[in-house]
Amino acid sequence: MSGADDLAAAERERVLAKSALFNPPPATLPDGRRDLVGLSREELAAEMAAMGEKPFRAKQLWHWIYHQGETDFAKMSSIAGPLRARLAERFAVERPAVATEQTSADETRKWLFRFRDGQQVETVYIPDPEEDRGAVCISTQVGCTLSCRFCHTGTQKLVRNLGAAEIVGQFMAARDSYGEWPSPKDDKPRLLSTIVVMGMGEPLYNYENTAKALRIVMDHEGIGLSRRRITLSTSGVVPMMDRCGEELGVNLAVSLHAVTDELRDEIVPLNRKYPIAELLAACRRYPGASNARRITFEYVMLRGVNDSEAEARELVRLIRGIPAKVNLIPFNPWPGAPYETSTPERVQRFSDIVFEAGISAPIRRPRGRDIMAACGQLKSASEKKSRAELDRLAAEKQAALEGQDA
Ligand code: SAH
Ligand code: SF4
Repeated sequence: MSGADDLAAAERERVLAKSALFNPPPATLPDGRRDLVGLSREELAAEMAAMGEKPFRAKQLWHWIYHQGETDFAKMSSIAGPLRARLAERFAVERPAVATEQTSADETRKWLFRFRDGQQVETVYIPDPEEDRGAVCISTQVGCTLSCRFCHTGTQKLVRNLGAAEIVGQFMAARDSYGEWPSPKDDKPRLLSTIVVMGMGEPLYNYENTAKALRIVMDHEGIGLSRRRITLSTSGVVPMMDRCGEELGVNLAVSLHAVTDELRDEIVPLNRKYPIAELLAACRRYPGASNARRITFEYVMLRGVNDSEAEARELVRLIRGIPAKVNLIPFNPWPGAPYETSTPERVQRFSDIVFEAGISAPIRRPRGRDIMAACGQLKSASEKKSRAELDRLAAEKQAALEGQDA
């Protein structure tokens, strides 16, 4: 290994060690039963072996849980009655509790899910307006360690990581809500057809749990959503991007939002740790990136801050050579936010410049505004903070971020 590889590996270890401090509570119910959702196939097989059962039982259970969506052992008809009863004594097939469910005038649906320890996150289903399909936006953390200045989740402290069961559970509960079980085969149409890991939290700061959940989602004998239908969004946790590409091979979205380190340091403070040049280098080597599978650069349009024509041209220059598309997101305001949304003319002009350079630059239409369902402003109604509090929290998080290497 070269010195640079050693450094990258050490950095990765640091990120993972830090993440372990925010582990979710154990996946056991108050009555001692263990939740089977979120176990890997190997773990499920080990549970069956511990009960003296053959490995094919794990395969059967997997099918019931992830293909059929069954939560009641009594209805798992291919398993003999006595074993069903023994399973029900030891295990459960859980879902997060639905605290609230709202459907917007534009059909966007938002859930506030509650976990066993009372922590809550939001999940959103955004249907395609033209076809019977849509994206489920899932969360990976309660709060976020980072504090991007335009993001409402950034105003909340990181409470904890979500476990694999809680991450995959959001998607399964969303499927329950639409009754989309059993899982359609991969080539058949699905209503809940893609997953975007763009809800609350930074998925690459909760890599192990996120990866485990996505592996379950992608498993062909269960939910069977292919990696091409999954997009993971990161604010730029460079040391984990390679692993994400190599191990999961999902589509990558990168929250760029600025074209100079000076501005990005301010609005995406993680940039002070992993500046633009390093971030783009990680994008250039992202496994599987090709013209058929582009990296999405997310760019939130902030009035008078990052929306000039010169910045559009600089963006084009920066990402040249990377198979890329640019997603322009009109800033979604929240109470106390220090920014305003760019004017529609500015957004259009920005899009045109990027487009003329041969890079697709769609403008993301705001969806679900009436129920505050936009990514980045999730769980907003539950917590309102003053500007002074926001500044203090951001400073605290920044200090923690800088102290991470110490
Ligand atoms: N932590 C990850 C994923 C969650 S945020 C990340 O930062 O990429 C998902 C996307 O929503 C990011 O691109 C984020 O920058 C964007 N976002 C956050 N707050 C927003 C807001 N108020 N308006 C528009 N987009 C926002
Ligand atoms: Fe965290 Fe992403 Fe929000 Fe930044 S934009 S604070 S990384 S959730």
